[in-house]
Amino acid sequence: MSSEEAAELKHVLATLDDLSAEALGAKIKEYGITAPETKNPLSDPYPFNLMFQTSIGQSGLSPGYMRPETAQGIFVNFKDLYYYNGNKLPFAAAQIGQAFRNEISPRQGLPRVREFTLAEIEHFVDPEDKSHPKYKEGIVNNETLGYFIGRVYLFLTRLGIDKDRLRFRQHLTNEMAHYAADCWDAEIECSYGWIEYVGIADRSAYDLRAHSDKSGVPLVAHEKISEPKGVEKLVITPVKKELGLAFKGSQKNVVEALEAMKEKEALDMKAALESKGEVDFDVCTLGKTVTVTNKMVTIQKEKKKEHQRVVTLSVIEPSSGIGRIIYCLFEHCFYMRPGKAGDEQLNVFRFPAVVAPIKCTVFPLVQNKQYEDVAKYISKSSTIAGISNKIDITGTSIGKRYARTDELGVPLAITVDSTSSVTIRERDSKDQVRVDAEKAASVVREVTEGHKTWQDVWSTFPHHSSASTEE
Ligand code: AMP
Repeated sequence: MSSEEAAELKHVLATLDDLSAEALGAKIKEYGITAPETKNPLSDPYPFNLMFQTSIGQSGLSPGYMRPETAQGIFVNFKDLYYYNGNKLPFAAAQIGQAFRNEISPRQGLPRVREFTLAEIEHFVDPEDKSHPKYKEGIVNNETLGYFIGRVYLFLTRLGIDKDRLRFRQHLTNEMAHYAADCWDAEIECSYGWIEYVGIADRSAYDLRAHSDKSGVPLVAHEKISEPKGVEKLVITPVKKELGLAFKGSQKNVVEALEAMKEKEALDMKAALESKGEVDFDVCTLGKTVTVTNKMVTIQKEKKKEHQRVVTLSVIEPSSGIGRIIYCLFEHCFYMRPGKAGDEQLNVFRFPAVVAPIKCTVFPLVQNKQYEDVAKYISKSSTIAGISNKIDITGTSIGKRYARTDELGVPLAITVDSTSSVTIRERDSKDQVRVDAEKAASVVREVTEGHKTWQDVWSTFPHHSSASTEE
């Protein structure tokens, strides 16, 4: 293939999402693309709704749509959230919940399903000041967005995602939603290839503006300014007495509709009232058009001093499918290692302690009432300290018991081999230290809560040779 042809194909691939159904169909024909396995011709492309429709209410006559993201619930609650934050900027809201998407081809396990758990943060910022107090610690251009890219990196790597199989990719112009100021995807490589796991978008002020426009409720923030500014404002003053006489019970609807007029609409009405003395006015809440005369409303420009800035906030949104991340965590944390005899491969999940569902196991080395009592005591005090643990008092060999818990990804194992002290074994290195039975639960807690590393424990306590107990 010539380099010109290759460049053309690359360009077509990068801009595919911009094509209409017809243009896409034409490309399929032009390049003679057929079904990969059967080589059958493809049918014409058609638009496809990613949202699931359902019916609401007893009659089932009102259509509803299952949410494809959790974000909009945050935007419609903007006023309350802003109030809860003491009307201070910036502020953020986080939500986790089910999202539904009518995926065309949900055949890749957890990474592409039609119902998934989505976690989103909406961090509201002043569109003219997207600086972030912790930005100096990072290197990306837009401070707040950069800060979140950094936090997503730390979040994923601390969970146990391999940093060499994680990358951040900026959206190409044609991929970016029309309203987005910038968008980055955290992509992770697993057996399905590189897939998006977290989207970090600067959605500008689009959502709040769209909700405000449709509902007529201003979703804005107010900022006091030290030097009041002189501005010209259009003031609409309905004359309630005249409107009451003309519209009686419907007066309130007409007043609200007059006050909700946008600047252009109000200026058109002002011009019409000045030239003709009356004008037809559509009141959507009444579902009809009424006649408004020049006695019923005054519309004029007034000079005003503004003591505050009214601003529709931009929003930075990290958005992530929990199932996708968990799936990758399974792949990146899984490995196999030979058992002691060398004739079998043992499975291990190297989950970091913070995410491992079970933090420690407690075993008496041999079946004996005294050791069992100590093991039960340690297990109970661990539970009280909030450490999820598993006690195994079966007579199975200690090597087999270790192998079982390695397979579950349990980071630490406490083995009771005396009534006064016990050993703690780390899953991946298989290293063991000796600790007082009384202290065992608190040592485990310090490691699993991230206050200490295993290295700290290793350099504090006497080492225990594994020869007698290891598999
Ligand atoms: P998006 O709004 O398309 O950027 O999606 C936000 C996040 O939701 C992505 O980064 C994925 O982690 C996750 N996600 C999107 N679609 C699916 C799906 N079909 N199944 C599971 N997770 C998904």
